[in-house]
Amino acid sequence: MKFAKSTHQAANYLRKAVPLMVKYNIPPNPLNYALWYTYVSQEVPELNQRLDKALETYGTCPGIVSEQMFREHIIDEELETADEFEAGLLRTVDVLNQQAVDTAQHTEDYSEILTSSLEAFDDNNNNEPLEGIIRQLAASTQAVSETTRAFQHQLDAAQTEIEALRTELKKSRQDAHIDPLTGLFNRRVFDSELEQFSQGGNSQRMSLIMIDVDHFKRFNDTYGHLMGDKVLQYVGKLLRENCRQPVLPVRFGGEEFAVLAPGYNIAAAVDLAEALRSKIEAIRIRQRRTGDVISSVTASFGISQLQPGQSPVELIEAADNAMYKAKENGRNRVECG
Ligand code: GH3
Ligand code: MG
Ligand code: MG
Repeated sequence: MKFAKSTHQAANYLRKAVPLMVKYNIPPNPLNYALWYTYVSQEVPELNQRLDKALETYGTCPGIVSEQMFREHIIDEELETADEFEAGLLRTVDVLNQQAVDTAQHTEDYSEILTSSLEAFDDNNNNEPLEGIIRQLAASTQAVSETTRAFQHQLDAAQTEIEALRTELKKSRQDAHIDPLTGLFNRRVFDSELEQFSQGGNSQRMSLIMIDVDHFKRFNDTYGHLMGDKVLQYVGKLLRENCRQPVLPVRFGGEEFAVLAPGYNIAAAVDLAEALRSKIEAIRIRQRRTGDVISSVTASFGISQLQPGQSPVELIEAADNAMYKAKENGRNRVECG
């Protein structure tokens, strides 16, 4: 989503969006502001088409449809745009606020002129019709003042809503990066970190450790899926606690984890993997139902060091192959490739 670069344009978009939201009975929540702001900007034609279609069908845009469009066309765009988005909205409200303050000031100045004119009439009361006109002007100026004040209240409310939007965006940005079960970063973060690292021409040393929990299907079948989830959470905790920045542990997917270890050669990565392997092997979980202690959690590790000219995919393949070698050689072990 692209946002208006100038504050003037941003204010224009908001001015266009709000009456449309009123017209179609759209609840003024942050999500809808974002949607309609984008709609009037016409930057995302697909969104306009979908919104037009919804209006044609329902005469409004149902909440669930709005939310879907918000997620697909606004949040799912590149993540940086969330910052741009916040900045755009905040700028817009700032501009509107400044305009309201200016208007209030002008109205007040004008009101003062009218009042002093009326005082002049009181001093030498000799022009009845003109005095009537000025009294009327004074009354309408008062009305403008009140409208301006009301507008400012609305802007305050908008600012509060934007604050809520900021929180919502922050949360969705986190959702996009973090695996909810383990709290580790997800594959998306892994891919972008590795990609960024490779763009440096692989001149820096780095190793990748792939980790796969052993016989996890069997574990689930024996102890249940919930207990399986608990194991994954525990492994996630171990990885977090034992990997210091810049070493980055992620949940690669399912029962697979990966650790990106910048600055690590194979030997250093083997040491780290061995430490993790023995900590996983030492996991003991007591089953609440039976009181039994489960002590059968192990994982296999595959390590590869990034080679000059190697692509991220090739590095992952090499570490994966090493991990399969660990499986073949009996599991619960570390192999290099
Ligand atoms: P191997 O030692 O060869 O890796 O055997 P495995 O059983 O671990 O491998 P397989 O790929 O056959 O099975 C992986 C299992 O992991 C199957 C799937 O149900 C389970 N799994 C994947 N994600 C989750 C999850 O989020 N929670 C739970 N409880 N299980 C999961
Ligand atoms: Mg697996
Ligand atoms: Mg497995």
